[in-house]
Amino acid sequence: MSRFAYVNGRFVRHGEAVVPIEDRGYQLADGVYEVWAVFDGKLADAEGHFARLWRSLDALRIAHPMSQASLTMVLREAVRRNKVKEGLCYLQITRGVAKRDHAFPNPAVPPAIVVTAKSLDRSAAEAKAAKGASVISVPENRWGRCDIKSIGLLPNVLAKQAARERGALEAWFVDDMGLVTEGASSNAWIIDAEGALRTRDTNANILRGVTRSTLLEVIRETGLPFSEKPFTIAEAQAAKEAFITGAGSLVTPITQIDGVKLGDGQPGPVAIGLRRSYMERARLKAV
Ligand code: PLP
Repeated sequence: MSRFAYVNGRFVRHGEAVVPIEDRGYQLADGVYEVWAVFDGKLADAEGHFARLWRSLDALRIAHPMSQASLTMVLREAVRRNKVKEGLCYLQITRGVAKRDHAFPNPAVPPAIVVTAKSLDRSAAEAKAAKGASVISVPENRWGRCDIKSIGLLPNVLAKQAARERGALEAWFVDDMGLVTEGASSNAWIIDAEGALRTRDTNANILRGVTRSTLLEVIRETGLPFSEKPFTIAEAQAAKEAFITGAGSLVTPITQIDGVKLGDGQPGPVAIGLRRSYMERARLKAV
């Protein structure tokens, strides 16, 4: 099936889509991105992802290339043209194209935009999630502004590759206090020995996950005990359950951490239930 990408103002065949070699994203990782889960051809958690996008751009002093209404139309058109019912929509905005120089272009150039959309097999993803996944831990070695969804992802790339090489789905970064910050592309959660849901607070150097925020709404409604108290790998290994959240992983149960099985090594009932509740809510709210 033909795929299409939106590149700087027009849709082109995916295989023919190119960006200029002096795009600052390509040369300097000077840009930001967002990823929306697509449910029934609609964008999940749309508002949360837009809010974070504007925040990331403002933090880096990159101009907004268009209004939220126009950008929503472009994203929806990418989903429609690629016939995505279940999948992901990716947006990248860089500071633009200019002669290579670390400092911002002067005069400023228009930001550059790329949008792609791809289908995924939701039932295969469900079957995979139902089996649970493993994580490994790696030392936190990222910059101090992980709240910005920057395309500069080298530490995340290396962490994810280390996970793959050890047969794990995800890598959890551990800071120099021995506390888990988050995953290479997801937020990290446990249900501790006392039964409380725990995830790192957003004042720490982590990405403020949009899936995390929506799941917190679900958790508040269900009345499950919750605290933003950080945890160590040892605590996670002794936890009742663990899981990760993200636009790609949604809510995925974790059954093994650094080779140590959690409980009986099966996905926990709370994580499975939260995955279902998250998806129900996100599907209803998708636009
Ligand atoms: N943390 C990191 C480092 C990520 O890259 C991601 C998603 O890509 C997340 C957390 C989860 O964020 P969200 O739920 O908004 O997808």
